[in-house]
Amino acid sequence: MSCPTTLVWDDGYLGYDFGPHPMSPWRLQLTMDLAGQLGVLDRVEMVAPAPASEALLLTAHTPRYLEALRAASTDRRYTGFGLGPGDTPRFDGIYDVSALIAGGSVRAAEAVWARPGAHAVNIAGGLHHAMAEEASGFCVVNDAVIAIHALLAAGAARVAYIDIDVHHGDGVQAAFYGDPRVLTVSLHQDPRTLFPGTGRPGDLGAGAGEGTSVNVALPPGTDDEAWLRAFEAVVPSVVRAFAPDVLVTQCGCDTHIGDPLAELRLTVDGQRTAIAALHRLAHDAAGGRWLALGGGGYNLVGCVPLTWTHLIAEMTGHPLDPAAAVPDAWRATVIGRAGSPGVPVRMGERPDPVIAVRAWEPGSEAVIDRSIAATRSAIFPLLGLDPGDPRD
Ligand SMILES: [Zn+2]
Ligand SMILES: [Zn+2]
Repeated sequence: MSCPTTLVWDDGYLGYDFGPHPMSPWRLQLTMDLAGQLGVLDRVEMVAPAPASEALLLTAHTPRYLEALRAASTDRRYTGFGLGPGDTPRFDGIYDVSALIAGGSVRAAEAVWARPGAHAVNIAGGLHHAMAEEASGFCVVNDAVIAIHALLAAGAARVAYIDIDVHHGDGVQAAFYGDPRVLTVSLHQDPRTLFPGTGRPGDLGAGAGEGTSVNVALPPGTDDEAWLRAFEAVVPSVVRAFAPDVLVTQCGCDTHIGDPLAELRLTVDGQRTAIAALHRLAHDAAGGRWLALGGGGYNLVGCVPLTWTHLIAEMTGHPLDPAAAVPDAWRATVIGRAGSPGVPVRMGERPDPVIAVRAWEPGSEAVIDRSIAATRSAIFPLLGLDPGDPRD
């Protein structure tokens, strides 16, 4: 099956650059180069974004925060509203490039909304930690929140957001915590062990939005099999019960075993399998409308370009063989800049690329199954599902 896929890209994205920092824009360039050399980009419609207007940015942020971003764009000594020193330092032009990335996610949302079955991706997006009035966790403007607002304004009645980044999708959850039109689902490393320290199974949404925030807290060390078991035990059920018009996914890949900032143990194959599951869910539960965003991912060579190339390929309906060779030209470029350690040879990592996922069983005392049970027992009743029934 081929799926019409729009890829929103502008070289201007590479200006989202904190300098010496884990979130190097090189990871975006490496992804585009790898996807191009493997022919994946031949199957997408590539479009350039316009910067998000101030009116769009105001759907997620306050006027005084935007004013601060303008000041931070030119004032080298600017601090405030979460902007440096620390995780999220200011840089020249921070307002314009942040608006460009947000505009990219809105452009992708428009492509997805234009017709049933459409997919679109903005790998520079997924900046899920940005709050209404605070930069946080490398995120300045919350393009995911803005794109979801754009979908609602275009006529979507219900939007499901699934966040598979290793960190809790706190900014998106906060924006829609009381909003019954938006389901947010985040699978992340246990917040007691990782930034931003939120996203507990009992955080369920509030007021009219009660039952529309879903949090799966995964123990450090969670591997491919355990992660996929948790996903299958929670995500398809809650998304189907919510019955969205469109699926928005934040596809951060910092769950990787080689990621320097977190402690899960997924491989590129586990991440690829998760992305394929999101694709199936978009067709099964959201009329095929799928907006995919990037996110975290700090293993710049060994993970991000591979996983996001798999993402784009999967979206087009032509997934790549994990046994496929990484092109020599790509490897040579990487080796020239960073040396040869850790430069991948194949597009997959596991000897057994088809991962056997054992279904969750009620009453199991396995660590991952206790995490699963905590989420199911908190949220399932609010969605009319039975937390103890493995068929739900
Ligand atoms: Zn599809
Ligand atoms: Zn992250």
